[in-house]
Amino acid sequence: MNGPDVAAAVRQLKFRDPTRAERLVRTLARTVAQIDHAPVTVMHVCGSHEQAIAKFGLRAVLPKGLDVIMGPGCPVCITDMPEVDEAVDLAARGARVATYGDMMRVPGTTRSLADVQADGGRVHVVYSVAQAVDLARQTTDEVVFFATGFETTAVATAAVVLGELPPNFSVLSAHKYVPPAMELVAALPDTRIEGFLAAGHAAIITGWKLFEPLAARHSAPVVVAGFEPLDILAALVRLVELVRDRQPVVVNMYPRCVSAEGNLNAQQQLWKVFRLAGGQWRGIAWVPDGNLELRPDWAHVDARVRFGLGARRAGGAGEAATECICGEIMIGRASPTDCSLFGTTCLPEAPVGACMVSSEGTCRIWHQYGGHPNLAGTAR
Ligand code: SF4
Ligand code: SF4
Repeated sequence: MNGPDVAAAVRQLKFRDPTRAERLVRTLARTVAQIDHAPVTVMHVCGSHEQAIAKFGLRAVLPKGLDVIMGPGCPVCITDMPEVDEAVDLAARGARVATYGDMMRVPGTTRSLADVQADGGRVHVVYSVAQAVDLARQTTDEVVFFATGFETTAVATAAVVLGELPPNFSVLSAHKYVPPAMELVAALPDTRIEGFLAAGHAAIITGWKLFEPLAARHSAPVVVAGFEPLDILAALVRLVELVRDRQPVVVNMYPRCVSAEGNLNAQQQLWKVFRLAGGQWRGIAWVPDGNLELRPDWAHVDARVRFGLGARRAGGAGEAATECICGEIMIGRASPTDCSLFGTTCLPEAPVGACMVSSEGTCRIWHQYGGHPNLAGTAR
């Protein structure tokens, strides 16, 4: 890299400049004030955005007339009970089940994978699907990778499926695809959502153009955002401007990573291995085209085929406490503090609902950082 390029790169790294942040907050307040109703409500669909918003206390400096809510953006929260039940069932039948750590305590209808492990079931926490494959290479036991997450992690699963696999390895796919869930939320008859912040890293794969039909169909602008506080503030300014100007278009505010078409190689791998299918998202709804299931070509690595698991049941409330309002939170109708169990019966160390389990879950994040911190003396 030559001299001028280094200087440009360093300029790009100034993501936490307080002066720029203050300027953006003032612009945001001015723009919100130009809209004839309050609150202006926008939704982001990414646990990492919620973490950044909460961790850096952004809600404390957002104008009062702007409500930034989190939608179905955590893959752990929306993994449905019957999917957890399938993994629990396989572990109980003697298979080794490997999965990401956040999935361990997610409640199934009656038990979690952590319960199975405590009872002597062989459940392994892995950091990547490749680790699950390594585990299968070290044993002759059946190893099932309980694959969760959105298109970001599904691409990694697809790459592994397309490679050389040991014969005792299979995939139980609970992967989900975000755009149809955004469609569903945008189409709710009583929705308050006027625009979306789209997750930058998912858009790295899918590209920003993918959101154009959604924006046009629902008259809701979409702005692709990065994850630094300044990325989020700048994206919110642009999004609110689009709401004010009634421009249902897509704007890419993460151009250092996201292109119009996305990562075509990753998309090719994803769609070679997976196809879209309708599926239940926990607490939300049946999302048409919301699940990523293995194509029939990969039946030999599909745990559902291999172990003869029946067709997935449409999930319901199961044994979850009826007071749990995770579903309402994930479609933007409620906040964690509206739940009577928040911070009392439901705690990170003893979660009642899925939103309190995952580090990307709204209830867990709000419990950790506070949802609407009041930073006395913060400049408006
Ligand atoms: S999987 Fe990626 S895009 Fe989805 S919520 Fe998590 S961090 Fe955001
Ligand atoms: S606080 Fe717990 S019980 Fe209430 S909505 Fe959140 S996860 Fe569900």
